[in-house]
This record gives sequence, structure tokens and C-alpha cells, in this order.
Amino acid sequence: MKSSTIIKTAQDFVAIAGNYQTQKAFQQTKNYQTMLLDQKSKHQYCQGCHLAVDDITCQLVEVKTLKNSQYLLLCDYCAKLKLFDQYRLSYDGNDQLIYLPNMSQSELHHLYYACKKNLDDPEVDSFQAKELITELSSLAKYLDDVAGVNISHPGVFVHYYHQVEKSNKFLKDIRWFDGSLLQNKFE
Ligand SMILES: [Zn+2]
Repeated sequence: MKSSTIIKTAQDFVAIAGNYQTQKAFQQTKNYQTMLLDQKSKHQYCQGCHLAVDDITCQLVEVKTLKNSQYLLLCDYCAKLKLFDQYRLSYDGNDQLIYLPNMSQSELHHLYYACKKNLDDPEVDSFQAKELITELSSLAKYLDDVAGVNISHPGVFVHYYHQVEKSNKFLKDIRWFDGSLLQNKFE
């Protein structure tokens, strides 16, 4: 399976209620750790965005197609995207949809982890990383302005997604932004 079929654009997001909970339950099973170690021995890179697995935490995710299903080793960012959940309208976390036509979802993951590494290192000046994260986050507001509706909010996006044609011009330029770096890093 090619990475392009794993790392989606917003055009392909299918929110499934309970997706993430199912994954958490899978991770508690006896087989999970064995299968994870087995996959890690075979793959040195996230099978979604190709980041080196030594530098990041990975999960084993079951990926189903119409014809078959297989387990892929994915970084947490790719895993969460693959397990795109049914966000509620009351969601008030940091995840956002942003307008980012010039960067692929996969490239955004690389940038995210580079910023994370910088922010996690107390020895390094993280001013630029913070600026970059803030700038990326501001593209949520830009998306709302472009779309004319508050679709940067995941709950609204999931609702909106089912209302529009998938060929809608905004969808291909939307990326999912894991805003967890915004939390507790900017004080
Ligand atoms: Zn990845």
C-alpha cells in the first residue's frame, strides 16, 4: 500500500464514531505488543509519512480496504489521521483543520515533529518553532475566512463534510493540524 493512500487530504477524511476508542482497546490486547515489535523489526520508517521510527512513537493500525485489511506501522500523527474520529460540535481541544494548499499532509507531519523536537529540548532556543506553530494554527482562521464557515473546528468540519460534494474546491487544500504542541508549551 503506497503512502499516498494512507496520508489523506481532507477530501478523503471519513469520520467514524468510536474509531479512536477501538484503537485504544486494540492496544490493550495481548497480541498488540508482539505484532508491534514484529512490524518495527521490518520497518524503520512510519508507513504513512516515512519519518524514522527511532525518533518518534509509533502505533500499529489496522487499515481496511474493500478487498482486504492489513496492519501498518504509523507515527501517532498518521495514526490519528487514519483513525479520524467523529468529533462533536462541543469539542474544545487543540485539533484543527487548516488551509495549507502548498504543503502536503505528509510534509506537515515532518514539520510538526521538527518543531516538537525543538520545543522538547530545553537547551535549544524554541522561538522560531513557537512562531511556526502559531502561524500554522492561524491558518485555521484563514480557512474559516476562505470557506465562509467555521470548518476549522473538527466537529463542524465533520458535519460540513457530509453536506458538501467531495469535489468542493476547499477540501483538497485542507490539512489536519495536531494542535497538541500549542498546549503547555507557550507559557
Ligand atoms: Zn507518519
